[in-house]
Amino acid sequence: MREKPNIVVIGTGGTIAGRGETSSNTASYDCSVLTVNEILSSIPEVSSLANLRAEQLLQTGSENFNNEHLLKIGKRISEVLKDDDVDGVILTHGTDTIEETAYFLHLTLKSVKPVVVVGSMRPPSAMSSDASLNLYNAISVAVHPTSRAKGTLVVANDEIHTARDVTKANSFKLEAFRSPYGALGYVVEGQPRYYRMPWRDHTVSTQWAIDDLEALPKVDIIYAYGALDERVIDTVASDARGLIYAGTGNGNVALHIVAPLVAAARNGVHVVRASRTGNGVVIRNGAQPDDDYGWLVVDDQAPQKARILLMLAMLSTPAERSALQAAFYRY
Ligand code: GLU
Repeated sequence: MREKPNIVVIGTGGTIAGRGETSSNTASYDCSVLTVNEILSSIPEVSSLANLRAEQLLQTGSENFNNEHLLKIGKRISEVLKDDDVDGVILTHGTDTIEETAYFLHLTLKSVKPVVVVGSMRPPSAMSSDASLNLYNAISVAVHPTSRAKGTLVVANDEIHTARDVTKANSFKLEAFRSPYGALGYVVEGQPRYYRMPWRDHTVSTQWAIDDLEALPKVDIIYAYGALDERVIDTVASDARGLIYAGTGNGNVALHIVAPLVAAARNGVHVVRASRTGNGVVIRNGAQPDDDYGWLVVDDQAPQKARILLMLAMLSTPAERSALQAAFYRY
């Protein structure tokens, strides 16, 4: 048994790697300027928790992350986790799209070792920055045996969230992350306390392994409103293989948008009804005859999460509609 666990901290940028001109710059600052080594060396407390090895994989705001970034991050973490000497991984990440990367890892990594994704809402240079405590808490979670086999976790503001559920729900407050069914637990003075388990399949019980993935199909999201121009649907459908329609309320579709979405589905584009509320379930064959139109529904997934899941589900052969729909009810 090692005296302290070995944790690899992989840096990708974000506000946690940011720097403001003054300590009152809590909201305007340069993003992605500190290296992961610089961040760690400013928090001496973390060395009591684990033997840490830092690695800089990317250095950019997470709003820039595309499918290639997801694959690069996933493949590197997978490689690191295969090392018997590594007990867990921390990924430092911008908070904007932390939920998408974390969910992608949750569905594709094949390991029970803890993987914790962490960011901050204020840069380390700001008054009352959450950067050091979030990172300290994330490492506390990664070293704890109760964190194993729970899939990818997101730690922020003293809470531990499952990657499946968490979304960034506020643009500037420290209390920015929300899971519709609540967090899995808290972190109190370096000790995780869990109260729930992720219910849906993840990591070792999914059908995808990051090591086998080379590319992801193009899936786009369209945000609905009454005056949406139907030509937007045609343009997106002409070159995407999947389309998440972030409809109003229960995935509702305006009358003039029905025909272009039906045409898209007939032309082989996988059309998925989601809700721009980002919360609650979209009922299959409820407000729309999904069976007749060849459409799918997200169950309860936010549109940006649904995009990740649809891209992966489409890789399974054959990507039949019924199999794709089943993926939304399974994961
Ligand atoms: N550009 C940042 C990002 O990487 C902003 C948000 C943050 O990290 O808190 O997502």
